Amino acid sequence: MSDEATEEREQAEREDESADGPAVPQEGEAGPHSGAGHGKPDKSAKQTEEEPAPKRAEVSNYEIVEHWFNAAADRLNLPDDVAAVLRSSYREVQVQVPVRLSDGKVHVFSGYRVQHNGARGPYKGGIRFHPEVDLDEVRALAELMTWKTAIVNIPYGGAKGGVNVDPSKLESGEVQNVARSFMDKIEKVLGPQRDIPAPDVGTNAQVMAWLMDEYGKLHGHTPACVTGKPIALEGSFGREAATGRGVVQVFCEAAPEIDLDPSEATFVIQGFGNVGTWAARLMQDLGAKLVGVADASGAIASEGGIDADKLAEHVREGGSVADFDGRTDEIDPNELVALECDVFIPAALGGMIHEDNAAKMRCRMMVEGANSPTTPKADAILNENGVYIVPDVLANAGGVVVSYFEWVQNLQHMRWTEDEVNKRLSEIMRRSFHEVADRCRENSTPMRPAAYELGIERVVEAASTRGYI
Ligand code: NAD
Repeated sequence: MSDEATEEREQAEREDESADGPAVPQEGEAGPHSGAGHGKPDKSAKQTEEEPAPKRAEVSNYEIVEHWFNAAADRLNLPDDVAAVLRSSYREVQVQVPVRLSDGKVHVFSGYRVQHNGARGPYKGGIRFHPEVDLDEVRALAELMTWKTAIVNIPYGGAKGGVNVDPSKLESGEVQNVARSFMDKIEKVLGPQRDIPAPDVGTNAQVMAWLMDEYGKLHGHTPACVTGKPIALEGSFGREAATGRGVVQVFCEAAPEIDLDPSEATFVIQGFGNVGTWAARLMQDLGAKLVGVADASGAIASEGGIDADKLAEHVREGGSVADFDGRTDEIDPNELVALECDVFIPAALGGMIHEDNAAKMRCRMMVEGANSPTTPKADAILNENGVYIVPDVLANAGGVVVSYFEWVQNLQHMRWTEDEVNKRLSEIMRRSFHEVADRCRENSTPMRPAAYELGIERVVEAASTRGYI
């Protein structure tokens, strides 16, 4: 189908969305809280507890991504009109997600799907369930996906989705209802050739299974409509560990740049969920020593080392970092960044390394597992202090790379072995690291600007070759 025909069809669908769109409450569903505005935290939902420590920066994820985009666009001398297209999203969908919870009331959450740029292929990006999700954050994360998929050179555009719900406060059946309700509202803009969601903060393989099942009710069995699914439902071997594995693979490539032997490295992890646990375990497999770790419950440290496998097991069984019974000291979570180590791996939320704590950091290298963990001011301080930074758009791309493998396997109805997945992942992460590192050397810049420039150049080339810009 020509671009024009595709555009026409998408325009018709946009009209379709606004005609019978998802934001209209269904009869009988509107409960006492149905008037809650989109984009506002759902005050009716089971209340979350106080803000987790440590504090996140005041600067938003969107401002962080825009800062890096604008700096790269300037260096590339990108014409203003082209930059304007790349700065804005192609499509932003905001929907009402009404769900009856166990208290018998209908609670209204806000759901978002933002498709930033599809020049290089179908939109691709995770779905986040977190109480702080809003359109601004989803927009930023969608744009980040556009650059990330281009930097590792896989044939996707960038998207992101989210619901402002705290899944830790809900029963499993309630989370399922949120997932199904959200899919019902956004399925028109998704599909294996259009936009393929994946897990992110607060979602996992089980949530992806519910999303796939809901999509299948309307379109027939379509495993390629989401990635990060359970193995039993055509998920890919290696997907769960992929982001953490990719973090460790790029670390191994980066270590020689600071004359560091990976087997002798000490490291600290901030955030001990999917990315943090796998990064910690795989770093430990190399011989590196975990000397500090935090999750939303608190932080612990030990100069003698913390057993990452045992801690991961403890968390998998429902425990938290703060109540881990190893030979460790509980520390103020705000002091985690100040622990002396070779490598600091942020693997929690955005904006956690900011101008108020960056100067305290005593690491030699930072490998960003989380998305947008570092504000521009913090980045400047760390660069000034000689910290070698492997940026998020490169370091945490392992997840989307194996999502790409899962999608390829699903489209072919084939399955690769875990060894094959890991080997292919390693090839892409290593190649991408060196493409960015070579560019750093050529232009005498840190990794982050080099990575953004590479990603933006590839998107501009695809968009202009298509005739889109
Ligand atoms: P997750 O929900 O599995 O884990 C998040 C972790 O962060 C949890 O341990 C949580 O307790 C912790 N956390 C929350 N607030 C904290 C605080 N204030 N201090 C310390 N820890 C805190 O999420 P995840 O999938 O591991 O994602 C983590 C980060 O990695 C996010 O930024 C996400 O966007 C990014 N990421 C994830 C993937 C993926 O495949 N899962 C891929 C690329 C990037």
